[in-house]
Amino acid sequence: MFEVVIGLEVHVQLNTKTKLFCSCPTSFNHKQNVNTCPTCLALPGALPVLNKEVLQKAIMLGTALGATVNRTSYFDRKSYFYPDSPTAYQITQFYTPVIQHGTLDVDFEDGSKKTIRVGFAHIEADAGKNIHDGDISKVDLNRAGTPLLEIVTEPDMRSAQEAILYLKKLHSIIRYLDIGDANMQEGSFRVDVNVSIRPKGDEKLYTRVEVKNINSFKFIQKAIEVEVARQSEAWEDGVYEQEIAQETRLYDQEKNETRSMRGKEEAADYRYFPEPDLLKAVITDEMMELYSKIPELPDAKRDRFISEYGMNEYNAGVITSSIEMANFFEEMMEQGISAKNATTWLTVELLARLKGEVNLNNSPVDAKKLGTLVSRIEDQTISGKAAKEVLDKLMTENLDVDGVIDALGLKQVTDMGALEAMCDEIINANPEKVEQFKGGKDKLFGFFVGQVMKASKGSANPQAVNEILKTKLS
Ligand code: ADP
Ligand code: MG
Ligand code: ZN
Repeated sequence: MFEVVIGLEVHVQLNTKTKLFCSCPTSFNHKQNVNTCPTCLALPGALPVLNKEVLQKAIMLGTALGATVNRTSYFDRKSYFYPDSPTAYQITQFYTPVIQHGTLDVDFEDGSKKTIRVGFAHIEADAGKNIHDGDISKVDLNRAGTPLLEIVTEPDMRSAQEAILYLKKLHSIIRYLDIGDANMQEGSFRVDVNVSIRPKGDEKLYTRVEVKNINSFKFIQKAIEVEVARQSEAWEDGVYEQEIAQETRLYDQEKNETRSMRGKEEAADYRYFPEPDLLKAVITDEMMELYSKIPELPDAKRDRFISEYGMNEYNAGVITSSIEMANFFEEMMEQGISAKNATTWLTVELLARLKGEVNLNNSPVDAKKLGTLVSRIEDQTISGKAAKEVLDKLMTENLDVDGVIDALGLKQVTDMGALEAMCDEIINANPEKVEQFKGGKDKLFGFFVGQVMKASKGSANPQAVNEILKTKLS
């Protein structure tokens, strides 16, 4: 009966070396207020100068979204006072943004696709941070003036799930392009969700509510769901007009509810006007040429993995969802192993052993080691079970794969002579079982394999044992 309408605004912090309009570093792990200068402190007389690196990153994103990259864009002032913004206005791009008319495809589990329109993306300066400490509030301006790209979609998404698919894809693209670290917890990928509902079939847009300050995909999903529930209940109770207003709401993850924060400002409230202190931002042919050559993106990589490694759509999608994982995987594949084994050992065994701060980038077991380990299973040096033991050891000690296999005595016995002797011993010790097996009790085959494995203390190569027993018992 209702249709959900969602539009998303994402603020991506760009990983430039210096701030948007001054040469202060953008790194954060410093004492408060040290990464500042007269320009980002808005002292009288200091003037902003555009950091060209920001345009390079904008070109890369614009190219990735198949968007129009405006060769000339302009800056505007958005006026409002907030303690963490010393200028009392934000420099942004209101009238002519750097990127317009892009698209991004999301993929559903059933294999179908949907194209989400990205209306525009513009460059703007971030604010500092207010730090609330008991009764007093402090201001840290280290972040003031760091560059953001705000990426805004058309209201094209029709469910929380679609919104999450879009966000994950965008997140992945930012990381592939390496234009930002997109760390949600640290606020370098900040999502504002605009939500409204309408009777199915209605083309008109109804009142939107903007939900802010949600810092994980899981909570974005929940915030959308509770906001949709609130709006549709109001509709069904006949109080939609009274209760649903255009406003900014905060999501409270403890109570799983949204709460009114402030009425939504209209553009006119911000008194936008062209920024008089800055020149227009011009992208030259040379810049365009250089920075529109972007790396392979997730969709293209997924398709290549499918054709090059014979992977299925699902595995290829999982592996290419992050650039770190895709790179790790391809480095493993250099050991000449199967894509299926590489996928399992990477996504199941290794990821399960990485915890907390440890991730693929600083994993104690690198791609070469994990690939080598998998190759030792494939060449039957060790069993899969033994390989897990080896991996456990490698997680805590910087040793080489073959050294650990030797030290733990995990090498499989593949010496056919030795295995045949073991099989003979088991066969001779169980004449009755042999009779029963030959008489048609097929299930007993497992018993013989089990006995040989046991006698070898698990070191026998099970495949070889199977083959030998098959010959000897037939
Ligand atoms: P503002 O900065 O005032 O929030 P923007 O134009 O930057 O305005 O962003 C508006 C966002 O809200 C866009 O993503 C747009 O698609 C979305 N939007 C607009 N109208 C609706 C609506 N009725 N329902 C849901 N989303 C909407
Ligand atoms: Mg907004
Ligand atoms: Zn500065």
